[in-house]
Amino acid sequence: MPSDCLFCRIVAGELPSTQIYSDDAVVAIRDISPQAPTHILLLSRKHIASVGALGDEDHDLPGRIFAVGTELATREGIAEDGYRMVVNVGRNGGQTVDHLHVHMLGGRRMSWPPG
Ligand code: AMP
Ligand code: ZN
Repeated sequence: MPSDCLFCRIVAGELPSTQIYSDDAVVAIRDISPQAPTHILLLSRKHIASVGALGDEDHDLPGRIFAVGTELATREGIAEDGYRMVVNVGRNGGQTVDHLHVHMLGGRRMSWPPG
């Protein structure tokens, strides 16, 4: 675990977060700076820098993350109206934390294209 990785430290419980789900592969927390009424971050438990760094051994992880996301969307009451799941990759993609995560946003109408 990189000791300087923010999300590794959150997953390890070394830094506080509002955790709403946890299993052996995925941890879900509320974003500290929510961009919608519901803004959840789906974190891999394993440190992987981005989706671009997923290895063959991680092949089932994206599916696990999306399955947790859809489960939480139902639990949060946003499944019926719809929501957005977003992955930012690299500088142009807007990624600021280099640890695999998927944003799940809901509770308001999203615009397209994103900024
Ligand atoms: P990204 O820009 O896609 O890398 O997303 C990083 C997200 O992490 C941003 O939406 C931040 O608001 C969020 N974030 C940063 N620090 C924390 C923290 N300590 N707890 C929860 N979310 C955080
Ligand atoms: Zn990490």
